[in-house]
Amino acid sequence: MFGFPISTPRPRKDYASCSGCGLCLLVCPVWRRSRDIGLAPLGRAKALQHGAVAADIAESIQSCTLCAACEPACPEDIGLVAMTLDLRRQLIQPAAVPSLRARMDEQAARPLAPRPSSSAVLLPGQALREHPGTLARAAALLGGMSNIPIADDDGSDIALALEAGVETPAQRLQQFLQPLRGLKNVAVADGLLLRHLRQWLPGSKIASLGLALSSLAQVRRALRASDLYVIEPRAYHADYQRLVKHYDALRSDAGCTLNLDLQRIAIPASARSLAQRLEPETAADIRDDSVQARWILQGRNVERIVVENLEDSAAFERVSKLPVVHLADLADDGTS
Ligand code: SF4
Ligand code: SF4
Repeated sequence: MFGFPISTPRPRKDYASCSGCGLCLLVCPVWRRSRDIGLAPLGRAKALQHGAVAADIAESIQSCTLCAACEPACPEDIGLVAMTLDLRRQLIQPAAVPSLRARMDEQAARPLAPRPSSSAVLLPGQALREHPGTLARAAALLGGMSNIPIADDDGSDIALALEAGVETPAQRLQQFLQPLRGLKNVAVADGLLLRHLRQWLPGSKIASLGLALSSLAQVRRALRASDLYVIEPRAYHADYQRLVKHYDALRSDAGCTLNLDLQRIAIPASARSLAQRLEPETAADIRDDSVQARWILQGRNVERIVVENLEDSAAFERVSKLPVVHLADLADDGTS
């Protein structure tokens, strides 16, 4: 169903290989906001090389947004996201974690989700579920003649646990993966969950929702040369070398502008810390998102913003009056 090749994840180096070149700073949203090297990969690597343990650099570990922009920037090919996640697992967990564990236990107690009726499934995640019209349009586009099934259990709790460095109980993980085993195609909106699904389901094609939708001819036709197309960075950077080609072709076909800079690394429009993801109601403000969205818009003459990830919509709406449309809603966009 998904007409594009998928590459296999490969092993990467660890912090011991950091040369201190500083290239990761150029793309890191946390460094751009704070100008504090200690909060960037360079600072974490140097601290660990000099004997620090996770607790010594807890603020740095927790502030990372896991956007993964630093990975393709790193000439030493260090697995910076996996290392941050590993360090998070070594920390005393934030206060919100018990409720996250309870959510996973509650989910594990539910009956196994039925196996999808087709060879493909969509895992929409929380943000897309909150926009049922967009979700329905995404499912219709991906399904072709009939809607692609939407998974009842999309692993949102597991995605959040991964982000927080909390171990997912084996029973819960098994319950989530069982209906997905053997499927040919899985489209997933959460870029961090995508990284793990590629390891958990090696026989399936796992694609980000953005990649799956932007591969469709009818979606590409609806893009305009005056659009700013905003790539979801977590999934893009997880498969950067191959996806550079996909998005080059998209830009060439549509003539649109992309949120790419500095060797075609995707600039994240949202810059959510772990606290903002775990406790969005009580966490500190989200000025970071505005800084990032302004950076992306700077010097670009565009008339519409098209996002792969609904979390990015609010960031652009705060800093611009341009219409912001999700990829799945392009055909129904009334701004023509
Ligand atoms: S994943 Fe993103 S926020 Fe975290 S260190 Fe890398 S660039 Fe910075
Ligand atoms: S880009 Fe890589 S090698 Fe260079 S400072 Fe950052 S983590 Fe170290």
